[in-house]
Amino acid sequence: MTITSTPSALVRALSDRVSGPVSTPASDRYDAERTGFQLLGRHRPSVVVGATGTEDVRAAVAAAADHRLPVAVQAHGHGVGVPLDGGVLIVTGRMAGVRVDPDRRTAWVEAGTPWGAVVRAAAEHGLAPLSGSAPGVGAVPYTLGGGVGLMARRYGFAADHVRLLELVTVDGRVRRVDAEHDPDLFWALRGGGGSFGVATGMEIGLVPVSRIYGGSLFFDAGPDILEAWRAWTRGAPAELSSGMTLLVLPDVPGVPEALRGRHIAQVATAWTGPLDQGPDALAPLCEAAPVLMDTMRELPYAESAAVYAEPDHPHGYRSRSMLLSGLDPAAATELVGRTGPSLPFMSVVGLRHLGGAMAREPETANAVGHRAAAYLLNVLTVAENADTAEGAALRGEAAALFADHTLGRSLNFSFGPLAPEEVREAFAPDDFARLARVKAAVDPDGLVRANHPIPPLA
Ligand SMILES: Cc1cc2nc3c(=O)[nH]c(=O)nc-3n(C[C@H](O)[C@H](O)[C@H](O)COP(=O)(O)OP(=O)(O)OC[C@H]3O[C@@H](n4cnc5c(N)ncnc54)[C@H](O)[C@@H]3O)c2cc1C
Repeated sequence: MTITSTPSALVRALSDRVSGPVSTPASDRYDAERTGFQLLGRHRPSVVVGATGTEDVRAAVAAAADHRLPVAVQAHGHGVGVPLDGGVLIVTGRMAGVRVDPDRRTAWVEAGTPWGAVVRAAAEHGLAPLSGSAPGVGAVPYTLGGGVGLMARRYGFAADHVRLLELVTVDGRVRRVDAEHDPDLFWALRGGGGSFGVATGMEIGLVPVSRIYGGSLFFDAGPDILEAWRAWTRGAPAELSSGMTLLVLPDVPGVPEALRGRHIAQVATAWTGPLDQGPDALAPLCEAAPVLMDTMRELPYAESAAVYAEPDHPHGYRSRSMLLSGLDPAAATELVGRTGPSLPFMSVVGLRHLGGAMAREPETANAVGHRAAAYLLNVLTVAENADTAEGAALRGEAAALFADHTLGRSLNFSFGPLAPEEVREAFAPDDFARLARVKAAVDPDGLVRANHPIPPLA
């Protein structure tokens, strides 16, 4: 692509047309504007537009397209993939509104609204969205990538509950896309990621859940608890969604005393069946191994961030995600052994139990890939300034260990850039070809640069 104008012409055009701040590398606020949760591989745009609404997004996309420059979007930056080099970065954190319609059980969610805000707004009406483990993650980006939530086995992917999306495409149009209007685009946006334009908001369905039995049980990591969790998940009803996180916790104040310095297995669970049956549902797990710490309780969904209680400070990380047909016990035991205290860097092995409602196509089909997967495995390595050879090697070893049962990748849980053939692995071949056709129809020059881009069909 030829860049036909200088960034200064673009900056002038943008400053005239948008209400939010426009920053360049020379601006004091540039670093703050472009930096989100993920600190590795940050975007390096020529211009950052701090969008305040749909009109700002439309103006920014149109100006970039006029100047034939690439555009990327960032809400909260947990999912940065291929970083933008030059071009226009639209940051949506100022577009953080949420409006609940309790009668229709829906919410209108703006592009930069974090899940925590949607959860709080819905809870006022005894309702809940299909939100995930971390309240700071953007609801829109999460949903565009599918969205494996705390109650996913009962209700399906977040993308399955989208009624309508508002999207700015590179032709400068603001489109309202649903099952009747731009149906192909509607299919692609729900699970295909951010390749097709810049979403300014979405209408989602909410579910009538106000309280759950949720939290975590902590054990020493090892084959016994892994096998117990695997056996427990295999017979689990759809009301039971759980995940296991394995990591070595530092021996420092701030980490609960019972867990300090240990290689732990955290089983995070959200039970949405009758609340008084929650403890019984968890009993097989509690009996399988000594419980080091137990945070399970009946809680309002508004406090659902307590289920995984993930750290919320920005840092650098890379991951290898795998969608598995089954959890091979020998491979899992081997992986736990390799990621124990002798590992000279921090790694986090995350497992989520899939299936249940996630295995069923929604009424209006969407692009979410590999619904038949039984587990999601994510091997994450932490690095301060740049990915390390050791981290990459561990992730590669993990992929080799589970290769026989791997169906593909998860877009949302792929942290760091993916090569095109790796993006392809997130979808069935026909669906990937359909996504590439949709991309070619709405953005033939590939100006919109998603974290995990779908290339336009040649
Ligand atoms: C701690 C943590 C917990 C997580 N928990 C879960 C979980 O429980 N379930 C799950 O499914 N995922 C989970 N994720 C993954 C997460 O959903 C994705 O990384 C998501 O993209 C991050 O949202 P964000 O607001 O930080 O996105 P950003 O990093 O800001 O954006 C990611 C990408 O989304 C696209 N995008 C963003 N905004 C728009 C827009 N308005 N229009 C078009 N495209 C857009 C762009 O391609 C962008 O590069 C988790 C990630 C982390 C780090």
